[in-house]
Amino acid sequence: MGKIVFLGTGTSTGVPLIGCKCSVCTSENPKNKRLRTSLYFEHKNKKVLIDVTPDFRTQALNNDITYLDAVLITHSHADHINGFDDIRQINYLMKWKEIPVFLNLPSSLELQMRFDYIFRDTPQLGGGKPIVKLHVLEDYDEIVLDELKIKTFIHFHGKIKVSGFSTDLFTYITDCSFIPSESLEIIKNTKILILGTLRYLPHSTHLTISEAINLVKYIKPEITYLTHMGHDIDYDKLYNELKDKNIFPAYDGLTIEI
Ligand SMILES: [Zn+2]
Ligand SMILES: [Zn+2]
Ligand SMILES: [Zn+2]
Repeated sequence: MGKIVFLGTGTSTGVPLIGCKCSVCTSENPKNKRLRTSLYFEHKNKKVLIDVTPDFRTQALNNDITYLDAVLITHSHADHINGFDDIRQINYLMKWKEIPVFLNLPSSLELQMRFDYIFRDTPQLGGGKPIVKLHVLEDYDEIVLDELKIKTFIHFHGKIKVSGFSTDLFTYITDCSFIPSESLEIIKNTKILILGTLRYLPHSTHLTISEAINLVKYIKPEITYLTHMGHDIDYDKLYNELKDKNIFPAYDGLTIEI
């Protein structure tokens, strides 16, 4: 038993965008308010966070996240790691227990540059910093946390390699424009597919709605949730367009009991 919680379902800007007066950004539907994309799940007695967004503090408060057995990073774009400093409050609640962080090599190098103070071996007076240990992932790898096994695979976000994660219950793919066939074989028939989909119109580094539908036809999950959505996606409109295909837009706070 466990659960999957969508902590955020918005693209890099979040929705609403600062200063935008479009119908989605000014919508009163709470499902059109999207923090930056990340996921939290509890499965096989483990608590895992995927990506640490600039909204992580708010997301942890909203969803009562107080313990993490592991953090998984998809890639190092700002919307996926820039909340990393706030991991230290989780360390504090865990009595400064170290948290393992799993990520690919380019993401590891970028994280260490952007947050160099965390990895510098100097004592800090009067203030903590995250206590983490980085574990570098190969393109195709497996993360083992006691009973919980997470397969990792690659997909592309323009030219950037992004890590995808797959457990026996769900597969998580965020920023994506192409999935190589080797990865498709790993995730085919996954029970729950979570797929990053930016908008209706073509984009060089993100899937469109129609590209996502085609991938779902090939992967054949039992159910699909779309995430990482921009401000041209209105929740109710997309919900009605896709519900007969068993594809649903996710929304912040959506919790799936598993
Ligand atoms: Zn992103
Ligand atoms: Zn807008
Ligand atoms: Zn990205």
